[in-house]
Amino acid sequence: MLNADGAPVSWLPLSIISWEESIKYMVLDKATVLDWYDDWIVHSANWETKVPSVMILKDYEKRKTAIRYSKHNVFLRDGYVCQYCGDDVSKKTATLDHVLPVSHGGKTTFENTVTACGPCNANKGNDKKIVPKHKPFKPTYFQLVEKRKKMAWDLPHPAWKNYLE
Ligand SMILES: [Zn+2]
Repeated sequence: MLNADGAPVSWLPLSIISWEESIKYMVLDKATVLDWYDDWIVHSANWETKVPSVMILKDYEKRKTAIRYSKHNVFLRDGYVCQYCGDDVSKKTATLDHVLPVSHGGKTTFENTVTACGPCNANKGNDKKIVPKHKPFKPTYFQLVEKRKKMAWDLPHPAWKNYLE
């Protein structure tokens, strides 16, 4: 679902709605269909329709730009790069590391956690003298969106790609 300005209503996570919702938006005339699934038709007693794959809202919806702390947002802020050795990590291999260890009173906040690969995390352990290359910070919504745009999307319909620039 795109906002009236042509960009997704939400980037984090991507504004994906169910087919039932998409039909509701269509029936209520709240959004315009930009693309359809060619081979997906749904029926009710009296009518049938193809299912929309991309829609744009008729009225602009204010975006929520507050950032919640989460492990995934820390990984995203760090671009899935270990903050100790600089190696790339994946969603599967990324670990969350407390710069000031929890055992030393370290908090689970954007300012005290970084992305680490398994070996660096194990190597650091409870050593508070080993510090990341960059001081961790609380990212803005737009910084996270920029990072997210650089990563691959798992898209159920190829037409979506055109709207994710
Ligand atoms: Zn590492």
